Amino acid sequence: MVFWEGYVSDEAMGIIAPMVVYWVYAGFYQLVLSSLDEYRLHSRKEEDEKNLVPFHSVMKGVLIQQLLQATIGFSIFLFTSTPAQQQQQQQPSIPHQLAQTILAMLIVDAWQYFVHRYMHQNKFLYRKVHSQHHRLVVPYAVGTLYNHPVEPALDTVGSGVAFLLSGMTPRTAVFFFSFHVVKTVDDHCGMLLPWNLVPRVFYNNAAYHDIHHQLQGSKYNYSQAFFSIWDRVCGTHMPYVVVKRDGGGFEARLLVLPSLDEYRLHSRKEEDEKNLVPFHSVVKGVLIQQLLQTTIGFSIFLVSFGSHELS
Ligand SMILES: [Zn+2]
Ligand SMILES: [Zn+2]
Repeated sequence: MVFWEGYVSDEAMGIIAPMVVYWVYAGFYQLVLSSLDEYRLHSRKEEDEKNLVPFHSVMKGVLIQQLLQATIGFSIFLFTSTPAQQQQQQQPSIPHQLAQTILAMLIVDAWQYFVHRYMHQNKFLYRKVHSQHHRLVVPYAVGTLYNHPVEPALDTVGSGVAFLLSGMTPRTAVFFFSFHVVKTVDDHCGMLLPWNLVPRVFYNNAAYHDIHHQLQGSKYNYSQAFFSIWDRVCGTHMPYVVVKRDGGGFEARLLVLPSLDEYRLHSRKEEDEKNLVPFHSVVKGVLIQQLLQTTIGFSIFLVSFGSHELS
């Protein structure tokens, strides 16, 4: 039994609830919590100086994104549902729904990781589409869904696939989609609040995603929205520390060795642009080479050791 039963179908609620949750949750961050400077990952001054788009354009962008998502959602709903299906479905047990939700999280994560990473690797797509989201170098809650209009369409496909493959009912999906919004807003809120359990439960939190929004970290920490599995599997995980920032608040700092740029023969930019192979493929190549060398070395050793024994 849910409060909307008899008024709105679960399918329609699956579209409406995430939008309402977005504005209530992100609005609360924006209007109330963002004034708590001691928990911010960037100062307000930094937010003003580093961001490349004014607040009112961000709001317009978010509203366009939500309008598109609602249009896509309602179109799918109109084509796929029949009135007889509505409100009739038996709900599975709570553990069953939790298992379906975890499966849906894993599917959304896989979809978003590869789409997101490709958006960075393909220069055309980055320039024309995904760079819009990165105009917010210092993310803030109500700017979470600030994206190029192509992105909501892709995200909706990912969520739709997760919904279908997990086998969840539309009612479970209302909660799953709403939680997805809460988690994504948390990742963009730019704050680490001690009483908020979501970033404590998930290692992939506001600090983790803040690294991705920083200029030096934009080729790392692609994983969204729940876990960091794919960054770890694919070698794009950037370790970081959260330290106290001068003047109050926190700062997420990339854990890279001191740069000593003044002694380099080529700049880092040149290294990124001129090399024809990504870093993780180089590491894989070196490991394969060492494995081969070790195998050959041990084979020689075994053969020669064996012949000594015989003589
Ligand atoms: Zn990105
Ligand atoms: Zn982001």
